[in-house]
Amino acid sequence: MAPKPPVLIWFRDDLRLSDHPALDAAATTGAPVICLYVFDEKSPAVRPLGGAARWWLAQSLRALQASLARIGGSLLLRSGPATGTITELVRETRTSTVFFNDIAQVPHRAVADEIARTLGALDVRCRSFPGDLVAPPSAIRSKDDHGLRVFTPFWRRLQALGDPQRPLPPPRSLAPGPHLAGDPLESWQLEPSHPDWAGGLRESWRPGEAPAQARLKAFLADGIAGYCDDRDRPDREGTSRLSPHLRIGEISPRQIWHAARFVAADQPGLAHDVDKFLSELGWREFCRHLLFDVPDLAERGLQPRFEDFPWRRDDKALQAWQRGQTGYPIVDAGMRELWHSGVMHNRVRMVAASFLVKHLLIDWREGERWFWDTLVDADAGNNPANWQWVAGCGADAAPYFRIFNPVLQGDKFDPHGTYVRRWVPELARLPDKLIHRPWMATPLELAAAGVDLGKTYPSPIVDHKGARERALAAYAKVRSA
Ligand code: FAD
Repeated sequence: MAPKPPVLIWFRDDLRLSDHPALDAAATTGAPVICLYVFDEKSPAVRPLGGAARWWLAQSLRALQASLARIGGSLLLRSGPATGTITELVRETRTSTVFFNDIAQVPHRAVADEIARTLGALDVRCRSFPGDLVAPPSAIRSKDDHGLRVFTPFWRRLQALGDPQRPLPPPRSLAPGPHLAGDPLESWQLEPSHPDWAGGLRESWRPGEAPAQARLKAFLADGIAGYCDDRDRPDREGTSRLSPHLRIGEISPRQIWHAARFVAADQPGLAHDVDKFLSELGWREFCRHLLFDVPDLAERGLQPRFEDFPWRRDDKALQAWQRGQTGYPIVDAGMRELWHSGVMHNRVRMVAASFLVKHLLIDWREGERWFWDTLVDADAGNNPANWQWVAGCGADAAPYFRIFNPVLQGDKFDPHGTYVRRWVPELARLPDKLIHRPWMATPLELAAAGVDLGKTYPSPIVDHKGARERALAAYAKVRSA
């Protein structure tokens, strides 16, 4: 009997073995399986990954290589435009079938469509499977066939669809494919070396499917109780920290959904916290569905009246913000947390983003780009959608007059300054009442805390009241446009 031709699995932002429908389908055929990852910075519309996400990708690919090896497979690495790379490999190996999971975001979707067309012309079977979302964008449309722009009705519709399909187990074994020459991972230079700035990332994270599952389990066992309140507290470990794992698909939203529902069924007292947690996953869906309709979400404000918004160009202020040197402790703590660990607490992301666009009147796209480069969870949907939300130009956006007061936000969500003391150690010895407003301290109080304002820590780069009035005036112009 002639040997079965191999099946090619194209891994993308789904670097896992479990709940991977394309891999599951390939394993079921019994044919040899070629697992491929294409590092593609060449296809049109590809947005090159930022530095922190590149670091994560390298760790995640290593983890996937090791997991595949345990079940008899291997991961082939190639680089180049995905369509050409895959077509060439199909010819080289006489593959008759290509499977992959749908990723409902640019450029994945466009590239996948192109591959399907090209392989169709070669008579190669090409099939995609749902795996990246709780529900596909086609399932939640308005009467005139576009995605919903307001979260609450979106979330209602998503819940009304019922629980998503149960997650699939990982394949027990794979029939190995032919031996093929691929790129050494190191040749992609995903990790920084001169200088090696990734020490904080290594210290903070363990990428990979197994750590992602362990994190989910630990969060649902110990962290979910009190999520509704604790999720807003940067001084507590109150959230799941699953975002970078989700971003690259080391864990699927269906796995999270079902595991969380199980906890709520088992411990009804936690139902409220579980619902809130799942609604956050709902925001991820909302952002991805939005991106499906608006592929240039990172470039174009959803509300056209913002096109002429009077953004200021101020490189000095932008740099102070990026480096955590604005003189507002909660903002600076967030920006330094980001630089060190590749994430920032959600509440602080809102405050720091609002500070950039409203206090400094700097274009939200500048902030989005900085986050894109420095976040390990930098996400093509979540990042621009949230920036637009903060700036007021997005879907279901924050009202223009909501201008976070960084001092009051600090008082409310970091009442003892624990978060600020961790990330802005030069202020650590200030008492709680001054930790979010060091400029209000007397010379004696500053001296006692070892703070020399303007030298060891900056004075505020803008005055809150004046900046607020300037922002309101700028937003009023847009409102009346
Ligand atoms: P949890 O509270 O445990 O939430 C669980 C999951 O829900 C998260 O992992 C995430 O996938 C999703 N989620 C939570 N909040 C949001 C939200 N507001 N929007 C969309 N999905 C959400 N999140 C990213 O994953 N990537 C980004 O690039 C990103 N950029 C952001 C930029 C700004 C300006 C703001 C305000 C928020 C941004 N977020 C982004 C959303 C949010 O801050 C992070 O998802 C959250 O901090 C991740 O922590 P967690 O996994 O512990 O969250």
